[in-house]
Amino acid sequence: MQYLSTRGGISPIPFTEAVMMGLAEDGGLLLPRTIPRIGSDTLNSWQKLSYAELAFEVMSRFVDDIPISDLKKIINRSYTTFKAEEVTPLVHKGDLHILELFHGPTLAFKDVALQFLGNLFEYLLAKNQSVLNILGATSGDTGSAAIYGVRGKERINIFILHPHQRVSLVQEKQMTTVLDANVFNIAIRGSFDDGQTIIKKIFSDIAFKNRYHLGAINSINWARVLAQVVYFVHSCLHVIKHEKDSSVDFSIPTGNFGDIFAGFIAKKMLPAGTIRQMVLATNDNDILSRFVNKGDYSLGEVKITSSPSMDIQAASNFERYLFYLMDSDAARTRELMEEFAVNGKIDLCGYQDQIRRDFVAASISETAVSETIASFYKQHDYILDPHTAVGVKAAQLCKTVGVPMVCLATAHPAKFSTVVEAAIGTAPSVPECLTGITDKPARCELMDADMKIIQEFVSRNALRL
Ligand SMILES: *Cc1c(COP(=O)(O)O)cnc(C)c1O
Repeated sequence: MQYLSTRGGISPIPFTEAVMMGLAEDGGLLLPRTIPRIGSDTLNSWQKLSYAELAFEVMSRFVDDIPISDLKKIINRSYTTFKAEEVTPLVHKGDLHILELFHGPTLAFKDVALQFLGNLFEYLLAKNQSVLNILGATSGDTGSAAIYGVRGKERINIFILHPHQRVSLVQEKQMTTVLDANVFNIAIRGSFDDGQTIIKKIFSDIAFKNRYHLGAINSINWARVLAQVVYFVHSCLHVIKHEKDSSVDFSIPTGNFGDIFAGFIAKKMLPAGTIRQMVLATNDNDILSRFVNKGDYSLGEVKITSSPSMDIQAASNFERYLFYLMDSDAARTRELMEEFAVNGKIDLCGYQDQIRRDFVAASISETAVSETIASFYKQHDYILDPHTAVGVKAAQLCKTVGVPMVCLATAHPAKFSTVVEAAIGTAPSVPECLTGITDKPARCELMDADMKIIQEFVSRNALRL
């Protein structure tokens, strides 16, 4: 499989190069040249596969430059770290299926992709005799999932910036109690945006970036999207087994558009009608629901909500969907993204019919999130985290009677216990991996939000060839 940029500026590259490149060198995002189709017979023959076996079947259709036995080993290793036997189990509550994506080491869905990406990086670096220094900024969840993806791995060091005392105590400790020598946590005196700006500036210093083999681990990496396609297929198989010949709807709490884009790819791969409708659920940061409902894609101010991992305006994976919406016209995609960079908005009203065939959307208020957590607990004795509650509420609003609805549960409620406790009056029980975490030894450097200071620290601690 060859990969191309949404902006048309690079020659086709194979999968492993796309993984190491991350962002395409022309500023676009990488996509497979074609999306492989799965026939119904093939899909039915996957019914009895384990999660890892299914992951191999799905992913191998996008990868042709890693030997089969190596790819199998990488995948198997990535999912043994999950606490649930099925990796991403479905539980049934009322007329909804809840897809629990939070059984990985940091209790959020990002583990599904980052456990895989960490192992993939390790494999490719060993093969190329190279090293990688990963540099990223986090507002909470991504940092810990990335750290757990690469902790203890040879040929990789990871540097994660978080805003000092502006992430929850649990989130902070999930990062700083990882004491492996290759993990460097940096608390900066400043905001998440300050961290993000520093990272962007460091990456734009191309000489520095190349000298220190810097790499990113953010949600634009194609391998992350690919790993997420698997659980959409997994859920369809599970639901179809119970409700024969049916279509399946999904509701997806959305921030950077990564997860829902994986669902969009799954929909294109599977026999027509297998995935019927995808509900794009946002919190008060509603740029994407405005886009679906009105064709208006325009930036607003970032609002702080109880679902912080979705407090995002410009969604980093949006460009991938835009490319398909423009009928794979890279020149037009580039023009629109350049227009967006200048004006902070683009008008896509003319594409409304197609957009609405692909998605329906709802934006869920803070009050509704809290009410949903409370009512779901009362009715089903099941605790939703605030991100999942956004998706569940949107599913309730958009559900069609008779069509099964799968809601993605993107985080364990114990990660957001303050919000949950305020809604239901009791705190969710604490999973084993979080017990006593606040008392564990931690390691973290506190620094000013100054690019030069961070750069100096990275250069002193970076792995070299
Ligand atoms: C990252 C995240 C999301 C948003 O997913 P995107 O792929 O960025 O749309 C939702 N919920 C949780 C808990 C997350 O960590």
